[in-house]
Amino acid sequence: MGVDRETVRARLRALGFDEVRFARVEPGFGPGLSAWIEAGYHADMNWMERTVPKRSDPALVLPGARSVIMLGVNYLPPAGAGNAGGGAARPAWARYALYSDYHDTIKEALAAAGRVLEELGGGAVTPADYRYYVDTGPVIERGWAAKSGLGFIGKNAMLISRTHGNWLFLAAVLTTLEFEPDEPVRKEAAGRETEPGLLCGKCTRCMDACPTQALPRPGVVDARRCVSYQTIENKGIIPRELRAGIGHRIYGCDTCLEVCPWNRFAQAGRQVLLAARYGLADLPLREVLELTPERFAAVFKGTAIKRVKITGLLRNASIVAANTGAHECLGALVRLAGHVSPVVRAHAVWAVRKLGAADQLAEARAVETDPSVLAEYEATL
Ligand code: SF4
Ligand code: SF4
Repeated sequence: MGVDRETVRARLRALGFDEVRFARVEPGFGPGLSAWIEAGYHADMNWMERTVPKRSDPALVLPGARSVIMLGVNYLPPAGAGNAGGGAARPAWARYALYSDYHDTIKEALAAAGRVLEELGGGAVTPADYRYYVDTGPVIERGWAAKSGLGFIGKNAMLISRTHGNWLFLAAVLTTLEFEPDEPVRKEAAGRETEPGLLCGKCTRCMDACPTQALPRPGVVDARRCVSYQTIENKGIIPRELRAGIGHRIYGCDTCLEVCPWNRFAQAGRQVLLAARYGLADLPLREVLELTPERFAAVFKGTAIKRVKITGLLRNASIVAANTGAHECLGALVRLAGHVSPVVRAHAVWAVRKLGAADQLAEARAVETDPSVLAEYEATL
């Protein structure tokens, strides 16, 4: 089945993908991933343990897989949009979140990419010859992106493109088709193309700037300490010792991305495959803390943010209120100390105490029975 690589590249670019690169399938990501998991850096993301074999060998995901087509979509907002205009006075949202859920929008384009392969295969390519994922399957997108030369893995463990900096959504199409691989990004020393920090040189800005010291070694994230993990993946109590480091970050964390000097070449994305929701970044903190389930559903409909559910967002917002000294939010926080969710109550109690208004908690404390919340009343601040 001969399908011309450059025709595929041009057709997928025309669909709206900013980068289209090819890698040859070969096993080999397992050891690094296993070591990361053995160190406990994956926190409680136990699904990662279960999928190590598949993540290490695409042929276990798609029998007969020969190539990975790596796709990148630039999500850098125009200057002044989203968090770029706000500074520390407003809650900060990870930039990627200020769009309609990219899983949905990019998946549609991936389905179209599959149809392109079928069309170019002239009947010899069927849906059994490819599978696609956008953060949704057992594929190490960053690793394949580095292999395909889409970029290199920085000391912040992110894929860094020399064109788009740190601002790419990555998607992968595994296919039984054989394509000549693209060249990886190389340094002079051959064979080191996927080494973390390949083009970082002496720079350590990301590691130095991380507010919770979650980058113990170049290219290694300790999810247990990472604000992104804590504010999105963790569904429970956020460890007290990490809360100050969360600062004004209400959902995710862009710090180790935005300090990277490789962003200097990045231009705002074309947004062919993305639907901007930058207005979400304008929501005042107090309004977030006063969200009802109905309003939460309406405001965050169709975004990735709804994944944290209203409890996760109220929890995060409580931490931000305490960290930013938002006394105008005290009334809302005191109400949240009586919320139905113990996770919300625990963080609201912590925030009210941090804001120096423990006396306003007497009523909530009198009826509290949950040990995790009671612990927040007793904790040393
Ligand atoms: S996302 Fe934030 S908390 Fe996580 S490693 Fe990067 S800077 Fe640190
Ligand atoms: S901030 Fe510096 S060390 Fe970190 S990924 Fe970027 S270039 Fe590498």
